[in-house]
Amino acid sequence: MKIIKTEQLKIRFECINGCSNCCRLSGGYVYLTEDEAAAIARFMETGEDLFLNWFVRWIDEKLALVDGPEENCIFLEDGKCTVYPVRPKQCRTYPFWPENMKTNERWALTKQMCPGIGKGRLFSTEEIAAILKGKDLDSER
Ligand code: SF4
Repeated sequence: MKIIKTEQLKIRFECINGCSNCCRLSGGYVYLTEDEAAAIARFMETGEDLFLNWFVRWIDEKLALVDGPEENCIFLEDGKCTVYPVRPKQCRTYPFWPENMKTNERWALTKQMCPGIGKGRLFSTEEIAAILKGKDLDSER
């Protein structure tokens, strides 16, 4: 996987309370696994069948949430994630997505979008590499 230079991978990050920019990335998809869909269904107490009928669709043979109003995340309400404790890994690992870190230009755009980059605790090169490989990012919103 090609990512920006190693020495640039020590990055401060903390999700900023009240921000929901990454829940409003229009044109993008929130992909989730079947296990994550089941966890959200349990959290919402909807039942899995109902959840799969109402809240997800298939995009390129991958499960994704349907869009909410104005292409925001369907679970964004009053600027807050209503399924936060069981949000998909895609949400838990933002902004450290491989596509965001492929080039300096792409990372610069991500920094413009995410005010939490440059704040909070320092993530080491090793932690960022692990997140890029799929480890969960443990940050609070
Ligand atoms: S991860 Fe960044 S863009 Fe997303 S809500 Fe937190 S501060 Fe905002």
